[in-house]
Amino acid sequence: MKYVDEYRDGALARSIAAGIAREARPERTYRLMEFCGGHTHAISRYGLEDLLPENVRMIHGPGCPVCVLPMARVDMAIACARDPRVTLCAYGDLMRVPGSNGSSLLKAKAEGADVRMVYSTLDAIRIAETEPGREVVFFAIGFETTTPPTALAIRAAAKKGLTNFSVLCNHVMTPPAMRAILDGASDGDETPVLIEGFVGPAHVSTVIGTRPYEPFARDYGKPVVIAGFEPLDVAQAILMLVRQINEGRATVENQYIRAVTADGNLKAQDEVAAIFETRESFEWRGLGWLPMSALRLRPAFAAYDAEQRFGLTPKPARDNPACECGAILRGAKAPRECKLFGTLCTPDTPMGSCMVSPEGACAAHWTYGRFRENARNQRQKEVA
Ligand code: SF4
Repeated sequence: MKYVDEYRDGALARSIAAGIAREARPERTYRLMEFCGGHTHAISRYGLEDLLPENVRMIHGPGCPVCVLPMARVDMAIACARDPRVTLCAYGDLMRVPGSNGSSLLKAKAEGADVRMVYSTLDAIRIAETEPGREVVFFAIGFETTTPPTALAIRAAAKKGLTNFSVLCNHVMTPPAMRAILDGASDGDETPVLIEGFVGPAHVSTVIGTRPYEPFARDYGKPVVIAGFEPLDVAQAILMLVRQINEGRATVENQYIRAVTADGNLKAQDEVAAIFETRESFEWRGLGWLPMSALRLRPAFAAYDAEQRFGLTPKPARDNPACECGAILRGAKAPRECKLFGTLCTPDTPMGSCMVSPEGACAAHWTYGRFRENARNQRQKEVA
């Protein structure tokens, strides 16, 4: 396989789907979580669930960085942006995530705050270089995939002697979130979630490798298959999980061998470890406060830490009580179970974080899934 189209070949997808249907035992259900928002998007976009037998169900996980950011951290960024000295740089999706009282970075910008959308950490560095009179703060979010670029930006700022650049760090880690889900973590709602295997994240695993998932197989008996983001990748990973479950095995398997190794990217890991240390506790939307699940800057880089530089601390904040993002991020509910879905909450008017990023379960379901659901219901009616 050389070209991306080959990973989207319909005939091959149908043949893998036939394999899943053949091997899935009719007397049982397979409940598989795709941790990563990229997989959620791919599953919705390519209609993979339509190809699966009824008893193989995909559960969306918390691996969308925008979605898991709690409102208190969004409020912190908005407060920081309102400081007249500050130019706050953020990726596009973050601008629309709702904060408290209907606020958002986009609304703060409309009210006069200097909020700028950037495409990379180095864009923020460039702004700091060209506008030395501004305090440039990069709003850093994301899992292990986006942490190395933030580390590199801090290195670059140090090398260039920039004294007006800092990072509002919200980088989080995948394995603690997977563990929390298996341990039944929640932010209040106790709906139990049964997961029998994980489709493991692709890009995260290029950095951390496959070894960090071994405890989930060994200690929890849950198989993990690391998968790429193309539809055939995900379909093949599902087949590999069904096989493991049928055989009573729980191991970590790597479907994404073209990019992921057992050890991951050691250079990136070293750079991240040099700049960041683990926080004792961090709040996740939907999962509550999780120990050792996020990063902050090491004391040696305190000058680049926006939390210290501007005295920022998270203040208690409450999501819209009707929003089900928390339960959706734990895999306890599906987007259509939220009564705001498609009525008050759409990608144009998001009420919760899961409707903002294309990787969010609600946004993916709004864009692709609802049409397929309608078509599925119609087919069922015709059969009946
Ligand atoms: S539809 Fe909107 S309000 Fe409901 S869970 Fe999704 S993001 Fe939250």
